[in-house]
Amino acid sequence: MRVVVSGAAGFIGSHLCDRLLADGQEVIGLDNLSTGRVENLHHLQDRAEFRFFRHDICEPFQSDGRIDVVYNLACPASPRDYLAAPLETLAACSEGTRNMLELALRHRATFLQASTSEAYGDALVQPQSETYWGNVNPIGPRSVYDEGKRYAEALTMAYHRERGADTRIARLFNVYGPRMKRGDGRVLPAFLDQALRAVPLTVFGDGSQTRSFCYVSDIVEGIVGLAASDEATPVNLGGPDEITVLELAKVVQTVADVDCGVTHLELPQDDPNRRQPDIAKARRLLRWEPEVDLRHGVRLMLASYVE
Ligand code: UDP
Repeated sequence: MRVVVSGAAGFIGSHLCDRLLADGQEVIGLDNLSTGRVENLHHLQDRAEFRFFRHDICEPFQSDGRIDVVYNLACPASPRDYLAAPLETLAACSEGTRNMLELALRHRATFLQASTSEAYGDALVQPQSETYWGNVNPIGPRSVYDEGKRYAEALTMAYHRERGADTRIARLFNVYGPRMKRGDGRVLPAFLDQALRAVPLTVFGDGSQTRSFCYVSDIVEGIVGLAASDEATPVNLGGPDEITVLELAKVVQTVADVDCGVTHLELPQDDPNRRQPDIAKARRLLRWEPEVDLRHGVRLMLASYVE
């Protein structure tokens, strides 16, 4: 197999490259390094089966030779990053996704779009299954990501229906693990960084909002499994267990063995209240099940931060 991974220098993208290379696949990694980091790929630089191009997917990408799968992961993903780069985020989801779809179509490759639980917005049903259409504020600050990813899904389905592209859509729910930037603003990097500095953890709002976390190796298995399936409609990939942000702050302090307390800051606009994936479809179609429990995953992530 010869594959393209866009967003290869990012958190999930770099782990996906590792997984595909371990499987004996040849990987072409693309990243414009706007939020990705070359350090995430340093360990791969001597691998003959891995080639990296500093490339913005908003420009077409040409490649000679065969391509079997295009994994499109390139996009700012942390709220802090996409709120700081709204137009770039929309461009990655629109022109960027289109260029990657065209690349896949030219090579008759399978195309996999990394989508998001944000497609459900501030969900009114619990848990969220793929049949739920979502509750998204189309003009709020988060819409650049939420609507961007929803557009990317619509584009992917249109290429599938009208152009016959062989496509997949993975809706990823709150992925965490090593290589998330300590300062990227997302909750687990923020809490672990604060715990290591023994300063109070910054809980936004009263901390009663929930998320369901999934360790990166589990997500990568799900992505690879989905690519190998023939399911064109979206599939949720995420941890099935819901936890409040306040409970998460306790877990982090227990794992880090600190008692630094929490400080409450203002809740960001349109911050979803509850989020929990229904993963019955992934279980049924992919025989996929997350294996890493939250405490263990947080311990692994903490260890990576103190290395
Ligand atoms: N959050 C928090 N403190 C932080 C960062 C985030 O309480 O320092 C909250 C945030 O308001 C949200 C949840 O943690 O309710 C997850 O936020 P994150 O940015 O990780 O991802 P999201 O699911 O919102 O995209």
